[in-house]
Amino acid sequence: MDDHRDLALAMRPYRWGIATHPDKGPIDECGVFGIYGHPEAAGITHHGLIALQHRGQESAGIVASDGEALTMHKGMGLVNDVFDQPATLDKLKGHIAIGHVRYSTTGSSNLANAQPILVNSRKGSLALAHNGNLVDADPIRDRLEDEGAIFSTSVDTEVLAHLIVRARKESLEESVIHAINQVHGGYALLILSEDKLIAVRDPHGIRPLQLGRLGDCWVVASESCAFDTVGAEFVREVAPGELLSISKGGVIRSKTAVKAAEARPCMFEFIYFARPDSQLEGVNMHAVRKEMGRELAREAPAEADIVIGVPDSSISAATGYAEESGIPYEVGLIKNRYIARTFILPSQLKREAALKLKLNPLRKVIEGKRVVLVDDSIVRGTTSRHLVALLREAGAREVHMRISSPPYRNACHYGIDTTRVKDLVAKGREVDAIRDEIGADSLNYLSVDGMIKAVGARTDGGHSFCLACFTADYPVPVLENVDKFAFEGGKDGDD
Ligand code: SF4
Repeated sequence: MDDHRDLALAMRPYRWGIATHPDKGPIDECGVFGIYGHPEAAGITHHGLIALQHRGQESAGIVASDGEALTMHKGMGLVNDVFDQPATLDKLKGHIAIGHVRYSTTGSSNLANAQPILVNSRKGSLALAHNGNLVDADPIRDRLEDEGAIFSTSVDTEVLAHLIVRARKESLEESVIHAINQVHGGYALLILSEDKLIAVRDPHGIRPLQLGRLGDCWVVASESCAFDTVGAEFVREVAPGELLSISKGGVIRSKTAVKAAEARPCMFEFIYFARPDSQLEGVNMHAVRKEMGRELAREAPAEADIVIGVPDSSISAATGYAEESGIPYEVGLIKNRYIARTFILPSQLKREAALKLKLNPLRKVIEGKRVVLVDDSIVRGTTSRHLVALLREAGAREVHMRISSPPYRNACHYGIDTTRVKDLVAKGREVDAIRDEIGADSLNYLSVDGMIKAVGARTDGGHSFCLACFTADYPVPVLENVDKFAFEGGKDGDD
């Protein structure tokens, strides 16, 4: 797959911390975790962030509060790089904490952009941790700067911080509600004050946010795998547009922060982003992906000897394809799990070398076989082309590529980094042309209807989703100037 998590090639940040990837995209994104009421809140948050590490590897940070003061530690790298000394966590005292992991980018401003963001104001100290993207952050920031606001980061989270502290409202909750009603986009936001933990989800529920219970403590996280890791129980999804405020004594209050619109959770969470052991909108990701593979086998059968999946993210779909088709599933690609997570290798040649470092075909399995290669998506097509070539070098007689999602043709504006639109291999190309581009004997994608059916088969239907990167049906309108700036102009990828 265009699997970005371990093969983070050269990327450059856009103005709002949105990164391109020369070979990948969509790239996630961020993960958030928060807890109220635990004497070791920072330690629990540390474990929660490790569980969410797949959502971001650039930087990690935790802010804790003991009811009077906030303390923070954040840095570049994996959670365990940033929190490599027990003393670091020991300094984060208090019973409330929030944490954040962010996807890696290059550029000198990264540490400044690491989250949580901590601000001091007449409302006291506030820390914000945010997963998502505000589509109108640019013009709002311009307005705030015209009015004298000073920004120290280039992430849209700081726009939210300004809007919250400037709100002339009595309570923090009202200030947050006032702020988020001025912005649009997809977001899951955690806010920590000296004595409160606030969680807010965008009105379409595009970005995931869930509530859990650990003994007497409340926890919130992007994905339920974090609850499993810390021993918490999943309670429910934070509803679209809902604000949860947890304060003294663990009292939790729910308010409608923004009028909820039609729920449109990000389909790519189901296809790829969320961990296979996570549960979103009531369904397990492994089960959904397996069903997508089954549906793909029904829609696009192949005459072949073996089915293999691109590790790790496409294994669930590949096993579903194999079961439905009756073609044996095999382990055909071996992933090296120990290569460095950041390959800043800009040239095409080096990229091919990087892929070989990461994935090695199992010649004994592949030689002389007609292979179905299942992947969850194709973005630029570069990785797919190299994978097909690798399999042929290993002796595959035929390579039939099957993709467990529809063609990825449009940019995401809601918190998923995407490559430049013009570099998307499916943009303006029919499937046959993409097949020729990647060199496969055949290529088929799962249809949009098939994908929805596959998820619906697990959810009893009734869900709609954000499908904008497939259909261009954007649940939140995107400003034209933001679109141009963020995804097609300005700072480019490396080629
Ligand atoms: S456009 Fe929608 S479905 Fe696609 S990655 Fe973005 S939020 Fe997810």
